[in-house]
Amino acid sequence: MAWFKKERKPRISQRTKLEIPKDAWERCENCGHVDIRERFEKALNVCSECGHHRRFSAEEYIELLTDAGTWREFYANLRSKDPLGFESYSDRVAAAEKKAGSSDAIYTGFGRLDGLPYHLGVMNFSFMGGSMGSVVGEKVARLARRSADKRLPLVLVCTSGGARMQEGVLSLMQMAKTSAVIGELRQGAIPYISILTNPTTGGVSASFAMQGDAILAEPGAVIGFAGQRVIKQTIGQDLPEGFQTAEFLLEHGQIDEVVPRGTLRETTARLIRHMLGAASAPMPAPVAATS
Ligand SMILES: [Zn+2]
Repeated sequence: MAWFKKERKPRISQRTKLEIPKDAWERCENCGHVDIRERFEKALNVCSECGHHRRFSAEEYIELLTDAGTWREFYANLRSKDPLGFESYSDRVAAAEKKAGSSDAIYTGFGRLDGLPYHLGVMNFSFMGGSMGSVVGEKVARLARRSADKRLPLVLVCTSGGARMQEGVLSLMQMAKTSAVIGELRQGAIPYISILTNPTTGGVSASFAMQGDAILAEPGAVIGFAGQRVIKQTIGQDLPEGFQTAEFLLEHGQIDEVVPRGTLRETTARLIRHMLGAASAPMPAPVAATS
């Protein structure tokens, strides 16, 4: 009798059913926690298990720190001239542009944060390790000068492997140039906030990164001038635990706060408002005194 017969559905083998595209998963480099990529993205690439702050792209920081549709990039046409004719430098720059866009190792522009107009620069580690050559220095200097002219606050999100060695001493001169313009901002009482992300080292850490009126850093970010190995060899001593991390620097008074990425936007907006003396979030209406 046909209607007693169990209908046999073709079975999908367990193996194919469990196959999920490999790139849908991400693993935390710190604790090994595995999760679907979407969940990492939702958490701004912070591990839900251990709080490790994974790499966040320059473009993502711009999105995080500006109101939708307000970002306008400046100075994207600046190019390095390869002044030393350094071997294969122009090829490396061309390759970096192909990989990371044509803005060199920093995006500079205008945006609004909670409606407040300000200037934002975000270094791009994907472009030759966020190294500072004459283009990065020039863009920071121009943006800071524009901040002074327009009296707009400046925020720089820093990440850098150091000076760009292919431009030799010209890279090192950017430290003095950017520092001088930041000094002008200070004289004009224009707020400047620097946000240090992992890693912020070399010439950038020795100039504008550490010159903010407020210096924020992401948890666990490595911040320092020279690498630990170099320091250890030079002084011939073991280094304390946690040396050159954001938390260590906070404890030793070199930065103002360690701010998790999830509250970075809110903290930056609050600081700008506070430094401008602007009204903060609306206060509850005062309760009429009753006697
Ligand atoms: Zn983790």
